[in-house]
Amino acid sequence: MSTSPAAEIADPDSPDATERPGAADAARITDVFERRDPFVAALLDAAVDGIIITDRRGVIRSINRACCNQFGYDEEELVGRSVTALMPPPFSRDHDRYMDGYLETGRARIIGIGRDSLGKRKDGTVFPIHLSVGEARLGSEVAFVGIIRDISDRLAAEQRASFLARHDPLTGVLTRSAFLEECEAVLRDAAHDEERCYALYSLDVDQFSDINEAFGFHVGDAALKALVSRVTEVLPRETYICRIAADEFAALSRVPDAEVGRTLADALHDRLTASIYAERHWVRLRVSIGAAVFDRTVERLEELNAKAKLALQSVQHDGGNAVCFYTPEMAAAATRRMLLTMHLAHAIERDELHMVFQPIVDGRTGTVVSAEGLLRWNHHSLGPISPAEFIPVAEESGLIVPITDWVFTRVISHMIAWDRDGVLPDRVFVNISGQQFLRGNLTHRLEELLAPHPCLRGRLGLEITEQAAVRDLKAAVHTLGELARIGVQAAIDDFGSGYSSLSYVQQLPVAKLKIDRAFIIGVPHDTKNAALVRAAIGMAHGLGLSTVAEGVELEEQKDFLTAIGCDLLQGYLFGRPMPPDAFADLVRARAGIAPGGAAQG
Ligand code: C2E
Ligand code: CA
Ligand code: CA
Repeated sequence: MSTSPAAEIADPDSPDATERPGAADAARITDVFERRDPFVAALLDAAVDGIIITDRRGVIRSINRACCNQFGYDEEELVGRSVTALMPPPFSRDHDRYMDGYLETGRARIIGIGRDSLGKRKDGTVFPIHLSVGEARLGSEVAFVGIIRDISDRLAAEQRASFLARHDPLTGVLTRSAFLEECEAVLRDAAHDEERCYALYSLDVDQFSDINEAFGFHVGDAALKALVSRVTEVLPRETYICRIAADEFAALSRVPDAEVGRTLADALHDRLTASIYAERHWVRLRVSIGAAVFDRTVERLEELNAKAKLALQSVQHDGGNAVCFYTPEMAAAATRRMLLTMHLAHAIERDELHMVFQPIVDGRTGTVVSAEGLLRWNHHSLGPISPAEFIPVAEESGLIVPITDWVFTRVISHMIAWDRDGVLPDRVFVNISGQQFLRGNLTHRLEELLAPHPCLRGRLGLEITEQAAVRDLKAAVHTLGELARIGVQAAIDDFGSGYSSLSYVQQLPVAKLKIDRAFIIGVPHDTKNAALVRAAIGMAHGLGLSTVAEGVELEEQKDFLTAIGCDLLQGYLFGRPMPPDAFADLVRARAGIAPGGAAQG
C-alpha cells in the first residue's frame, strides 16, 4: 500500500473555497486530508482500526492502510471517491440524505455516536462493522473522521453465545425458554389460520437414571442424543424440540389434522422404544408420551402445555411406556390423585388402613396352603378406596415406604396370632411395589422385624411384579438372594402381563410364578389362553418353579388348571380377600376337606 501523498483533489465546487477565514487552518486541514504531514500519515497507518477522512460532501480525502485492507482497495482507488462506495445499500442510498440533514439541522444520526453497520468490500462482499464518526471543524472547514472496526469475529462469538444460551449443549435442541418463545411466535403467526393444527408432545424417559446407573453417564448421554435424532426423524419438518429436564423433552409439530397427530405419536413411541446402540451397549428406553392438539378450540400455549402434561401424568400413572392424548377426564383424575395423596398421608395415623387375606389353595386337596395379604383403605368420608387406585398414588408420592412398613408390621402380628391358634398357613405373601423392591433396604428391615419371632422364619413371602423384577436384573438377583438368605421367599406376580419373558425370570432366584388373571379368564374354552397357560406352567416346571393361577372363579377353570398340573390356585372360587379372623375360620374349615369341596367367600 502506498504511503505517497494522495493525488491532488480538485474540488472546484466547494463553496468554502473562496471564503476561508484562516489560511493557516485551511493549510493544516488540507495537510491532514491529503496526508502531506508524514507524521500524521505514519500515525494513521499504525492504527489497527480503519480510519477514513471525508469532506463535508462525503468525498474520501484520506484513508489509512488498515481501512484499505478491510475493504480490499488500494489507496489510490478510493481517494476522491464518495464514501458511499464502501457501503452496501440501503446505507449508500441514505448517506447523502443524512449528511444534508446533519449539515442543515446539526442533528446527528451517527456523528459523535458509534453504531453497528455494514461495509462493502471491493469484491462486493458485505461484512459487519462498528462505525464511529467524529467531526473536525477548523474554521469553516469540516472534515469527518470515520473509525471502522471489522466486527465479524465479535458477531460470530455473540451468535455462538446466543446459540448456546438457546440450545441444550448435549443434544442441540432448544432450551425450555427458547422453545416457549419460538412456539408462542409460531402460534401467534398462525392465529388467523383457520386450518392451523399443531400437536404438542411431552416426552419422558421412564427410569432413565437406571440407564446411567447400569451403563454410566456416557451411555445415558448417547442414548439421549439418539432419542433426539429419532424425534427429528419421525416428526415433520416443521417441528420445534426442546429439552426440559435431564430426560424430559417437548416437541411442537405442525400437522395436517389431529388424526395425523395421533398416528405420529404412535410412530414416535415405536421408534423411541426400539433398541439403541449407544457407546457399545444396546439399550432400550421406556418412553412415556403425553400429547395434546392445538386447534381452534385451544387459545394459548400454556393451555396446550398443561394438557400435554396432564396426558403425560396419566401415562405415567398407568405404568408409563405408552402414548396418551389429552382428554377432559384427565384433569378430574389428576385432581382426584392429588386429593388421595393428601388424605393417604394421614391414613395410618387415622387408622383407616387394614389388611385382608385371600387363601391360596392346593387344587387337588382344597387345603389352604398360603395366603396373600392385600391392603385396604377405608377413608372416613370417601369410603373404601381400591388399592388399584391408591397404591399407584402411594408409589408416586413416596408414601409407599411408610405404608409398606405398616403392612409388614401388621401382617407379622396377624401371623403371630394365627401361629398361636394353629392356623398359620405355610406362607403368607405380601405385595411389594417395584420401586421399593429395587431401592429400599428391604432385607435389612425384614430381618429386623422378624428377628424377635423365630417361629415365623420361612413363613413370609413377597410378591413382586415381573416388570419390577426385570427392570434391573442385577439388583433384583442380589435382593432376591438376600431375601432367600433370611428365609423370605419370592413369587413373580402378574406373570405374563408384562413384556418380558421366562428367559428373564429364569435368571431370578424365585420359587413361584403367579400367572396373571388375564390368562385364566375364559379357560378352558378360550383356546388361546388355555394354550398360553399350559405353556407357562410347562416352562415354569421345567425351570423348577411352582405355579399359582390367579383369579380362579369357576369350577371348570379349577378343573382345567388342576388337570394341566398347576400347583396352586387362588380366586373367588376359594375365597375372597377376608379379614384375619375369617381367614382363620376358613383354614380350620378347609383342613382335611376333600378335593372339589364347596366354594367359600
Ligand atoms: P394383585 O397383587 O394382582 O392382587 C390380586 C387382586 O386380584 C386383588 O385385588 C384381589 O382381590 C383380586 N382377585 C383375587 N381373586 C380374584 C378373582 O377370582 N376374580 C377377580 N376379579 N379378582 C380377584 P385388590 O385387592 O383390589 O388388589 C389390587 C392390586 O393392588 C393388587 O393386585 C396389588 O397389585 C395391589 N396391592 C394390594 N395390596 C397391596 C399392598 O399391600 N402393597 C402393594 N404394593 N400393593 C398392593
Ligand atoms: Ca399380588
Ligand atoms: Ca397378581
